[in-house]
Amino acid sequence: MARNSNPEPDLEEEVGDEVDWLVDADGVEYFMEDGVRYDLADDGYAYPVEEAKPAPKPAASKPATKSATKAAPSSSAKTDTAKSKATSGRSSLKGSVAASITPADTKSAKSTTAKSTTAKSTAAKATPAKPPAGTTKDAPPFSKGAAATTAPRTAPAPAAEPEVLLKLEAIESGYGSLPVLHGVSTEIRVGETAVLLGLNGAGKTTTALNICGALGTWGGKITYAGQDSTNWTLKECVQNGIIMCPEGRRVFPALSVQRNLAIGSWMKRKDQDWVAAQQEIVFDYFPRLRQRTAQLAGSLSGGEQQMLAMGRALMAQPRLLIVDEASMGLAPVIVKDVFDIIADINKDGVTVLLIEQNVGALDVAQLGLVMEQGRMVKELRGERLKDRSEVTEVLMG
Ligand code: ATP
Repeated sequence: MARNSNPEPDLEEEVGDEVDWLVDADGVEYFMEDGVRYDLADDGYAYPVEEAKPAPKPAASKPATKSATKAAPSSSAKTDTAKSKATSGRSSLKGSVAASITPADTKSAKSTTAKSTTAKSTAAKATPAKPPAGTTKDAPPFSKGAAATTAPRTAPAPAAEPEVLLKLEAIESGYGSLPVLHGVSTEIRVGETAVLLGLNGAGKTTTALNICGALGTWGGKITYAGQDSTNWTLKECVQNGIIMCPEGRRVFPALSVQRNLAIGSWMKRKDQDWVAAQQEIVFDYFPRLRQRTAQLAGSLSGGEQQMLAMGRALMAQPRLLIVDEASMGLAPVIVKDVFDIIADINKDGVTVLLIEQNVGALDVAQLGLVMEQGRMVKELRGERLKDRSEVTEVLMG
């Protein structure tokens, strides 16, 4: 087993090697680069200190400014600074881990309000590097079940599992003073795959960001596994198994496949056996990644990067896996592979929410949701799900 022959690196130590972390008189960890100080916040990201940090989730009905995986236009100047941190290579795993939506649990107590997307948005755009020698031998593309594993694929279910895993009731949200969601309601049952469709700008990603705690909810209620999760932080969501695989993959191009996967298990990084077992599960789904563990993520194909992004999300052991636009930019044959693997993940007990523009995703769904201008306009199950005309009607405008 890989867990014995190829132990996972101690990421915390490696971060310490790559970045000169300092501690100020208040006990806050930080590092300096180009005259700018970057503070390590509670969510595991490093922020330039002069950047306006988003406010915590507001009480219901009040607009929030908590930022998400997309930077608000108004902060673009600072955003560029932080983006460069995310892609600089030396910029620290802590500063760039955000793309996996799996925040670190940090070494000391920090402010709990900082949560910016600025450090997470550019990782996939860096210039691809050449793969190291010996790592390019092709595996069968995304074939399933290449290696057996006995490790559990999902978090243990609680004794009394509610039938509904996620319930949204009249969710309102937006960015700054811009309202985007105008009362989104739906329910996703335990163990099903839901597909959320809609035109560009309909509010699909915004809905997902609310669910995974990356964006403040202005009004309404989110219930997850029977608990009120409306005001959960992103970290609380990850701890409870709500894991998002972001739009655009956002792998860390300058890091190896293995390191990208390890970042997905950041919160359990001390338990190397657990991390190794989880990695085996990921390799079961994505055997091609197993053969490319040392390859830099930036040199992977688009399909492979999507696999890596999903693998990284699986490393956090999701109970609810949200995959934003998995099919974007992929060839049809690869899209089919991706959807097939998502179906396998779902069969293994993970509830899935797919955000898609590709109606073909409905093939693996038990629930079809259609959004339009910040509202849920269709909710389709059973026979209605098979008839695509209702959906295409909305998507054709
Ligand atoms: P797509 O399929 O193109 O990703 P979507 O349905 O996921 O679209 P969202 O990304 O949720 O749509 O965007 C909904 C609206 O919110 C859009 O009008 C978009 O411009 C706006 N928006 C998204 N992110 C931000 C942000 N960080 N700041 C301001 N407005 C934003």
